[in-house]
Amino acid sequence: MGRFGEGGFIMYDVVVIGCGPGGYAAAIRASQLGGKVAIVEGSDIGGTCVNRGCIPSKIWLRAAYVLNMVRSGNEFGIQATVNNIDFQLIKNRKDGVAGDICMGMEALLGANGVELIRGHGVVKNPQEVSVDGKIMATEKIILSTGSSQDIPDISGIKDAVITTDEIMEMSQAPASVLIWGDAGTIDVEMATLLNTFGCKVHLATTHSRILTMEDHDTSQRLGQAFREQGIEVLTRMTLTSVKKSKKGFKAGCPAKKIIPLK
Ligand SMILES: Cc1cc2nc3c(=O)[nH]c(=O)nc-3n(C[C@H](O)[C@H](O)[C@H](O)COP(=O)(O)OP(=O)(O)OC[C@H]3O[C@@H](n4cnc5c(N)ncnc54)[C@H](O)[C@@H]3O)c2cc1C
Repeated sequence: MGRFGEGGFIMYDVVVIGCGPGGYAAAIRASQLGGKVAIVEGSDIGGTCVNRGCIPSKIWLRAAYVLNMVRSGNEFGIQATVNNIDFQLIKNRKDGVAGDICMGMEALLGANGVELIRGHGVVKNPQEVSVDGKIMATEKIILSTGSSQDIPDISGIKDAVITTDEIMEMSQAPASVLIWGDAGTIDVEMATLLNTFGCKVHLATTHSRILTMEDHDTSQRLGQAFREQGIEVLTRMTLTSVKKSKKGFKAGCPAKKIIPLK
């Protein structure tokens, strides 16, 4: 549809800001419904999901799965040993898969008539988006800019904390970690993969069980499996401080204990 506004510039029906899974799907749907649509992306197409989240974590988890299979091969009559773990190769595979998905997304945007505009989008007013200083006029704006990481305000935590971004780019597993939060799906995934790659994992939550979005049976069975695999599961746990120690850090959790982290 698109038409020219005052001064001859293109008037879009919809400008979408952010090309993660949310924005990408919204832009394609709006275009399929007959709109003149542009999508603005300031970083990599695919957003968190493709570049730092769902896809990278599944590549790492797949590598962890293969590692577990090789280690347990004897149970199946397959004798094999793990000689080396090539972290760089795992990351190359992750980047390759993410790159392929980004290319596919870009092709699908084009095939559906969505204009991809690279740059940082700023909403000037309900009918104008500025992209690196260039003004786009539009009837509607869809904000799909995702979310940012929130590091809790706990004394000493800033020096010690790593996020999933660092885990997805790790060149070796840390010696030990405390995964502290709601013990939801992503925490549980990180616990699984770090533990498989040789890290001592303490999975702690303020809740009375892990995976509170799932039923009790699932929490209990996974908690049991984690304990058998050497993951320490700590519930009803509050993290109050993080202090430097000789070897690394000490996480303070009153009523329980100090967790040493190397
Ligand atoms: C480790 C990890 C694992 C995950 N695993 C899963 C999973 O297995 N399954 C699942 O469903 N979800 C998973 N998620 C969550 C999933 O990644 C997010 O829910 C999803 O990416 C949100 O999509 P979105 O489009 O809302 O935002 P995002 O994916 O964050 O995309 C927002 C985009 O907007 C862009 N942007 C922001 N501001 C501007 C601006 N001003 N101008 C231009 N561009 C801008 C950003 O660069 C980004 O590309 C995981 C997340 C993490 C961190």
